[in-house]
Amino acid sequence: MSKFIEAAYFSAKKHRDQKRKGNDASPYINHPLEVANLLANVGKVEDYDVLIGAILHDTVEDTETTKEEITELFGATVCGYVLEVTDDKSLPKAERKQLQIEHAPHLSNGAKLIKLCDKISNIRDVMENPPDFWDDERRLQYVEWGRKVVAGLRGVNENLEKHFDELTEKAIQEINKKV
Ligand code: ZN
Repeated sequence: MSKFIEAAYFSAKKHRDQKRKGNDASPYINHPLEVANLLANVGKVEDYDVLIGAILHDTVEDTETTKEEITELFGATVCGYVLEVTDDKSLPKAERKQLQIEHAPHLSNGAKLIKLCDKISNIRDVMENPPDFWDDERRLQYVEWGRKVVAGLRGVNENLEKHFDELTEKAIQEINKKV
């Protein structure tokens, strides 16, 4: 538990100057906290390495955090999860999105759980607080891409998969009603 608190504090400091993309510009740390909360309270996940990996999952991709720092403070298992869900930002965005679909089935179970909750959090955000310049078509494409990634993550947690399915079905209905 104390390691989880340490990770939450570490992540909050690393993300301190960042905001989410949505129109409410909420503090970035809300997102990793939501991912960890989904794992613990919807998925009933109790593995601290997974929960700590969740709270840290965007630090290497979006801040100056190194894998050495994470290994030293939180261990190699946690660092492995974080790296598994970290995109290679030197690649063009379309390629990164395609690679997420291709890599999903090959992730460890811990990384699959984190990725599944990451997609739930991001899609919920895009539905509730889309960036101002996102139209319905772009939101629909985002939800559909999320579904393709999650297709490769299935079989790890029934509650979370059900939560994802309900969320995306509702999202698609809502967007289609307006289009
Ligand atoms: Zn994320």
